[in-house]
Amino acid sequence: MNNSFTNKNLENLNTASFDWSEIQNQMKNKIGAEVYESWLKKINFEEEFNNYILLTVPTRFIRDWITSRYLDQILQIIKSYKKEIIRIEFKIVNLEISKGEKDEEITKKFDNKKNVSFIKDSYLQYNRIDPNKRFDNFLTSSSNKLAYEASTKVSENISHYNPLYIYGGVGLGKTHLLNAIGLELKKNNKVMLISAERFMYQFVKSIKSNDMVKFKEYFRNSDILLIDDIQFMNGKEAMQEEFFHTFNALLDKGSQIIISADRAPNKLSRIQERIKSRFSGGLVVDIQKPDYELRKNIVEQKTEELNKLYSDQISISKEIQDYISKEVNTSIRELVGAINRVVSFSRIYNKVPNLAETKVILKDLLNISENKVTIDLIQTLVCRFFKISKNEMLSSRRSRYLVRPRQTAIYLTKILTSKSLPEIGREFSNRDHTTIIHSVKTIEKLKEKDPEMVNNINKLKNQILYNNRDNEI
Ligand code: ADP
Ligand code: MG
Repeated sequence: MNNSFTNKNLENLNTASFDWSEIQNQMKNKIGAEVYESWLKKINFEEEFNNYILLTVPTRFIRDWITSRYLDQILQIIKSYKKEIIRIEFKIVNLEISKGEKDEEITKKFDNKKNVSFIKDSYLQYNRIDPNKRFDNFLTSSSNKLAYEASTKVSENISHYNPLYIYGGVGLGKTHLLNAIGLELKKNNKVMLISAERFMYQFVKSIKSNDMVKFKEYFRNSDILLIDDIQFMNGKEAMQEEFFHTFNALLDKGSQIIISADRAPNKLSRIQERIKSRFSGGLVVDIQKPDYELRKNIVEQKTEELNKLYSDQISISKEIQDYISKEVNTSIRELVGAINRVVSFSRIYNKVPNLAETKVILKDLLNISENKVTIDLIQTLVCRFFKISKNEMLSSRRSRYLVRPRQTAIYLTKILTSKSLPEIGREFSNRDHTTIIHSVKTIEKLKEKDPEMVNNINKLKNQILYNNRDNEI
């Protein structure tokens, strides 16, 4: 610091015009007081040049930290004062000589980097563990029991199953379980929870900024590595290489690895064979679609939770709860979303929606697979179900054995696609839209008093929605 002092004054006479304390205030306001106190305060202004400024920081570590996280924001603030500044340079000053006392503080902080909360709060912002996704609010049934049990075992006894690989469709609770494991193990271990996407992003960023060493260090330092949605890690040889090494290094030192994916290890595409085979080397468990029991329990739990949260809550009738449990059967995420919507509705309108209103509120959730559900598919499956031909269904004949299937197909099209009434009419041999309305109403009425009708509709709905899903994987 000292030896540059004279140069500074000679080279740049404008230094005084640059009000660093003003910039500091701005950093505090815009980037946050906490970050400022921990990091940004340590930056000192050194010198201003034509189009860049030179700042000082006490250690290399702090410099890397700041540049990887806050550089853009800092530059923006500086530019708002001097737009000709296009770059920031850092110089590391030797603390031991200039500021002995503070150095201790910094060393302490530096050591702390091994501590999870430190990583979490600062540099690796993506290491977020959601405190609301715990074991105690994870409900089980036969569809997810195995995954749940494996997860609790791993949390009690590291390296029992290593790696633990959990897979299942969207919204079935994989991230919830990973979080729950993370929360448990975080108490005594260094935990790293990251999505594969984030891992890739960070990897590429580290290469660009020449920070690979730090990147590796962070991952290899963890006792527990949880990687969510591994299916998103694909391609990129170099990255898979790094991942594989990290993976092996961690297993070698006895760290626990937990992976989630939307499919079984051998079904992963664009991931090296040897990685897949290592994934299969521990315990592989899957989560199935929630059965009715589980859906019902989740609806109850969630409704109760929301009731506690909002004191002004109007309780949602059993009928509506039941409807949601029955109809929203694709994923738990959709289920939770459905309840949230009904609750929002009742809070906004100060009344619990009736069944018809509920249907409207949840329309698009019930149509979840809509883009894959075509009228043609519905017609084909309904015809097959009632053993009639498509020509018969689309004909104008009004024999009873044709009318019901036709109405059923129309009804299913109405609830499973977002086609308008005239559009549906066109697809059913140019029938008038009033005919379409009539068909929908007829089936709705029948459903109310005829359990067999309900049953048939549900079966067909499952076929239509799930057939697609199965073909997709
Ligand atoms: P995934 O990662 O498999 O796509 P999530 O773990 O994000 O699914 O789950 C979606 C939502 O459903 C989350 O709000 C989660 O808390 C909730 N959820 C999933 N499974 C359960 C369960 N068994 N009990 C309670 N809530 C669950
Ligand atoms: Mg997830």
